[in-house]
Amino acid sequence: MYQSITFADGTAIAPDEMQIAPGKLFINGEWRDAQDGRTKPTINPATEEAITEIAQATEVDADAAIKAARKAFDDGPWPKMSGHERGRILTKVGDLILKHGDELAYRETIDMGKPIAFSHTVDVPLMADLFYYYGGIASQIEGKARHVSPPPTHTPNLTYTLREPLGVVAAITPFNFPMILSGTKIAPALAAGNTVIHKPASITPLTAIKLAQLLAEAGIPEGVFNLITGPGSKIGDVLVKHPGINKIAFTGSTDVGIGIIKNSADTLKKVTMELGGKSANMIFADADLDSAVTSAFFGIFYNKGEICTAGSRLLVERSVYEEVIEQLVRHVEQMSKGDPLDPTVIFGPLADKSQFEKISQYVQFGHEDGAKLRIGGRPFNPNGNGNSNKGFYYEPTIFTDAIYDMRIVQEEIFGPVLAVTPFDTEEEAINLANGTQFGLASGVHTRDIKKAHRVARAMKAGTCWINTYNLFDVSIPFGGYKASGFGRELGTEVMENYTHTKSVWVDLS
Ligand code: NAD
Repeated sequence: MYQSITFADGTAIAPDEMQIAPGKLFINGEWRDAQDGRTKPTINPATEEAITEIAQATEVDADAAIKAARKAFDDGPWPKMSGHERGRILTKVGDLILKHGDELAYRETIDMGKPIAFSHTVDVPLMADLFYYYGGIASQIEGKARHVSPPPTHTPNLTYTLREPLGVVAAITPFNFPMILSGTKIAPALAAGNTVIHKPASITPLTAIKLAQLLAEAGIPEGVFNLITGPGSKIGDVLVKHPGINKIAFTGSTDVGIGIIKNSADTLKKVTMELGGKSANMIFADADLDSAVTSAFFGIFYNKGEICTAGSRLLVERSVYEEVIEQLVRHVEQMSKGDPLDPTVIFGPLADKSQFEKISQYVQFGHEDGAKLRIGGRPFNPNGNGNSNKGFYYEPTIFTDAIYDMRIVQEEIFGPVLAVTPFDTEEEAINLANGTQFGLASGVHTRDIKKAHRVARAMKAGTCWINTYNLFDVSIPFGGYKASGFGRELGTEVMENYTHTKSVWVDLS
């Protein structure tokens, strides 16, 4: 069991002594209750118990946050500061994230059921890296100079471009990687000199609240960063339609993304959309099978399958089809599942009740559509028979003989359900892989280097992993094709989404 949580000042307490204070809104550098005082509990999916109360922002609160961010952008020091100065503050945020890493990891785990082993070793360091990386980039936001002599005068001109911040950015984030997906928006938006309003997923607000504290502690001026919590359909919608916001940086489901594009059109907002996926992972017969199966296993079951890039469709060359399935099933049988606060556990509960119900529903669809259940397909009780069966625990599930038009093949499940399909030729594998509305990620496992690169080029997806899966780095761009969205996050490429280009002409004649 997780022994203790060490705070930034070096003191430590046992997890069951940890009290999480009620979550307030952070507007214009102040913590406040919702205007009508309304709160809602955030629930621990491992126990179904309330962790603490969270303020539910009203339209008046959203307005106040927009006014604060607007004023901080139009009149405040942040956009005018040198990139070096902004970079120093963002670097300090990175330091504070690592210093408070134990508490952040604990909050993430109790709020969304992510195993503490991953919250600690993946989510905390990656979020810190985001602030270090974009802290460095803050001083490298540069234009280009060119000499031109255009008609009709053909006189010489020096032109140069300036990269300028957009204004107020609303960052709307999903429940599955609360820390990392907040950082992917907040860090580059702030680096470019924008001001930000963050609206985290209503079911996982705890690390967003802590991050707001750390941003303030690092010296982000008042109004530059604001946090409002509450339901997306109400408070997110206010942000999307409000003329005071210049850009929506959205990560979430395709349906909500489409609604946001429509609702933001009247105010001509710049939007980036990181949406759903139904990614295919291919194993050819010539692959290193042990490594390919391990990759397929983590490809779908990492983060309980609650990951946009989940390799939820596994395509396997027919001659190794049975062997791959048997190996996969063995991996699942040996997997350590249960209490996400146990550091040896790699598979915890689903994030909430609606996720649990959705996964159960899709397993039913798998049966109805004729796929063959090989393992899983039901809830499990991590406490053993006879003990409390609280918690949204669902077995890692594998369906085989999945075919093209089944719902478990075409639709995003966003949970630990794998659909395995055999193929005979490279061409068939490519067609199957590209055969959904989504295009977020893909994987190919083979020892044939030419085939690996051919398939990578043929994928209509924003990422292709060769002989690996689900690897991410802050410097590598990430985003979707087709119904998986547009715009790229991470890398230097994301800065395009947080800056305008201004062209300046100087007559040299
Ligand atoms: P969701 O679309 O339900 O919610 C995402 C965010 O949007 C939340 O903060 C929510 O409160 C808010 N929201 C909901 N309705 C809104 C509205 N009408 N206006 C404005 N905001 C609104 O998604 P989710 O269930 O939190 O996350 C799962 C989805 O996110 C999956 O589809 C997954 O593939 C996708 N996702 C994509 C990526 C990526 O990078 N492409 C990464 C992670 C998750």
